[in-house]
Amino acid sequence: MNIELINTGSELLTGRVLNTHQQWLCRQLADRGYLVARQVAVPDTAPAVQQAVREALGRAALVITTGGLGPTSDDLTRDAIAALFGRQLVEDPAVVAHLEAWFAARRRPRPASTQVQALVPEGALVLPNANGTAPGLILEGPSPQQASRAERVWLVMLPGPPRELRPMFLEQVLPWLRQNSRLPAPFLCRTLRSSGLGESLVQERIAGPLAELVQAGLEIGYCARPGEVDIRLSARGEAVRPLLEEAEATVRRLIGQHVYGDEDDVLEAVVVRLLTDRRQTLVLAESCTGGRIASRITDVPGASAVFLGGLVTYSNELKQQCLGVHPQTLAEHGAASEPVAREMAEGARARYRADYALAVTGIAGPSGGSEVKPVGTVFLALATPDRTTVVLQVNTFDRETFKHVTSQQGLELLRRALLG
Ligand code: ATP
Repeated sequence: MNIELINTGSELLTGRVLNTHQQWLCRQLADRGYLVARQVAVPDTAPAVQQAVREALGRAALVITTGGLGPTSDDLTRDAIAALFGRQLVEDPAVVAHLEAWFAARRRPRPASTQVQALVPEGALVLPNANGTAPGLILEGPSPQQASRAERVWLVMLPGPPRELRPMFLEQVLPWLRQNSRLPAPFLCRTLRSSGLGESLVQERIAGPLAELVQAGLEIGYCARPGEVDIRLSARGEAVRPLLEEAEATVRRLIGQHVYGDEDDVLEAVVVRLLTDRRQTLVLAESCTGGRIASRITDVPGASAVFLGGLVTYSNELKQQCLGVHPQTLAEHGAASEPVAREMAEGARARYRADYALAVTGIAGPSGGSEVKPVGTVFLALATPDRTTVVLQVNTFDRETFKHVTSQQGLELLRRALLG
């Protein structure tokens, strides 16, 4: 069964409000195995809402709308959909009581315009709204387009404000969805998060060996972000759980050293967890990442147990003063060089007595590059209790992406060293 999402609101189309409902609802549904097949945003006009709903119900059995349930003249969803389904709007005494109580609790007179929120399409299931005034609504019936057909469709209308929509969806719509026996077996989904291999390389390594499982119903998705790739394995129905398990084992066998986590894991949290487990400490010496790695590490609760601190040594003077980099090394090789990165890491580790010291020096650009060291050149050095490793990368991006990708590479270097 297809699910479609319609976000109403002219403010979404003028760019005044970011359509977070789209991401949030799709994510909630996908995490539970229900994939949204199509999503559209439409302005607050009755014809636009009706046309979008009519079209969506021509394809999907479940349509979710957001917004337009309020008391103002641009809140048209309820009326437009009731008209489309040929249902009368009737006053719901429970909603009237809720409106009375809502305003009384706030010691405010109830505006007459709110009365419209107590009007619900005949036969609709009313979803009480503990966080606002407009109830959500669920309509079930034959599709208004194909009334002669036996198949039934469902239309879920949710209020626009996120603090109202989210609890209503989690506490009322999801339980309703689960009980609705006509929904198909949900998708089972497993996301593996990888770092250090580009999207095409990931596919090159895993697609062939997974081909047989794809024949048996496995779906593979790749989601590339700067410095990392998510591998999404999914299949429909409980019976396919072994298929997913086999697919995950295959991916781990083929590119396991690049898989740093699963589902919502982030690399900095994985690194902090590994350091914590080993009771080891970290110090950072950053130049061109400007503290980005330190910022990511300190985003992780509990980082203070393992993270001693970080220095942003942007100038040659500070590289010498705070890390003990030799003036001669800087003069001979330049600040963005393998020997300087090495001295930064080793100096930081020795001076600040950490088990691990990660150092980064490079050329973020857009100026400062040369033929030998183009913009994007970056040296990452990791000093550990056993050795110092220096890695050269060329991250040719804008400054913001450069910083992020480089921080990702630094954390990945550290993760690999921690795993031995
Ligand atoms: P209200 O009673 O506030 O009028 P409503 O159900 O009519 O509620 P809207 O008027 O469409 O909903 O939206 C109310 C507010 O909710 C918007 O101003 C906006 O801040 C937020 N909102 C609406 N739609 C979205 C969306 N798709 N993504 C994020 N926020 C949204």
